[in-house]
Amino acid sequence: MLICGKCHCGNISFALAWEPDPAEIRARACTCTFCAKHGAVWTSNPHATLRVVVQDPALLSKYSFGTGNASFHTCARCGIVPVVTSRIEGRLYAVVNVNAFEGIDPSLIHREPKDFGGEDSGARLA
Ligand SMILES: [Zn+2]
Repeated sequence: MLICGKCHCGNISFALAWEPDPAEIRARACTCTFCAKHGAVWTSNPHATLRVVVQDPALLSKYSFGTGNASFHTCARCGIVPVVTSRIEGRLYAVVNVNAFEGIDPSLIHREPKDFGGEDSGARLA
């Protein structure tokens, strides 16, 4: 399944190639104050590949806080946060915001609250 998403204005878009087709997409509603205030709900798949396109890089804001491990890619025009990246031992990982999905059946998405604060880096990477 090719899962496409974008911010509200379309400046930041992504295509997530998720193989095989998911029976459900598990999504984590991070309870940190940044994600709670943005209503961001994240998913990832270590077997998927993600392509991100930014039309106007001048309107891409990258924000980090806490441990500084994660970079929240926020559209400076519309304020949506479609993607978070983290560089770990030279490799770039990402999670995407299921609320930025386009044309995906909402019943596929299983949302659950998640506090990432208690995770060590191994658990978080997994
Ligand atoms: Zn935007």
